[in-house]
Amino acid sequence: MIPASGFPLVDRHTHLEGALDPAWVRGEAERRGLALPAALEALWTGAALPFQGFIEAFLFGASLLDSRERVRQAALAVARRSLAAGATGVDLWVSPHFLVVHRGQISLENLWRGLEDGLAEARSLGLRSSVVVDAVNHFGPKHGQAVLDLVLPERPAFVKGFSTGGLEGTPFREWAPVFARARAAGLRLAAHAGENGPGSNVREAILEAGVERIVHGLRADDATLALLAERHIPVDVCPRSNAGLAADVQPHPLPRMLRAGVRCALGTDDPGVLPCDLASEREAARAMGLEEADLALLDRHGAEDAWCLA
Ligand SMILES: [Zn+2]
Repeated sequence: MIPASGFPLVDRHTHLEGALDPAWVRGEAERRGLALPAALEALWTGAALPFQGFIEAFLFGASLLDSRERVRQAALAVARRSLAAGATGVDLWVSPHFLVVHRGQISLENLWRGLEDGLAEARSLGLRSSVVVDAVNHFGPKHGQAVLDLVLPERPAFVKGFSTGGLEGTPFREWAPVFARARAAGLRLAAHAGENGPGSNVREAILEAGVERIVHGLRADDATLALLAERHIPVDVCPRSNAGLAADVQPHPLPRMLRAGVRCALGTDDPGVLPCDLASEREAARAMGLEEADLALLDRHGAEDAWCLA
């Protein structure tokens, strides 16, 4: 259990598809007669793998979300992990276009109903949540529009935000019309930026696409950190994920970001693939040299900027 700093603890960034319970994944694979990918088993033991190995492991878990009931179970896995670590809120990224259209493994209705079931149950256990719809940056803005075509007509109330993820392959200025449409529809705007792409993506996402929240932001330079601080832009930082997927960024910039006045908070990203929880993420932050006051600041930002508590 995390020591209380007086703020409700929030897991500020986790992906439904990457947060499955490993025992559940093992059971589902067995039931279906599927071999677990070697990459997934290796990552569960803490091995470091190239990005492709992570993607293979992530996609295997995602492929199991093919019914309302399994989506409910996945949402509950998020809830149990979060609650066990002392969290009372989670901002949950979900990729409806990937599951419904790209893979065609579940209907949109069953995805939303499964989430609704799981998140209502989570709420009764004491966990508040909001859903952020994720689009794939490197699929480009046409794909982004297709994501919005899919989710906007009958958007459930728990969907609060729109984000890009994946590889930062398309300049954010090209994504600007997609973000503008999402904002006009009442969604909050986030982007994975400065993770696998250059730090200049963080600046572009804010200045050219109107993004109001950054996921990771690891490669931001000092001028960009100043911009983030000046505009009070929240940044979700996920130490375990960063160690696995952005291992070249050393030392981890979290202490530097906090010193610059950036509103950083902690998230778990893909805890079903790269095992962690909010408590271990906090320990990882402490191991970067942060003190109690810094950890309390992370908790404070985590609660104040969370969309699930808004
Ligand atoms: Zn993420």
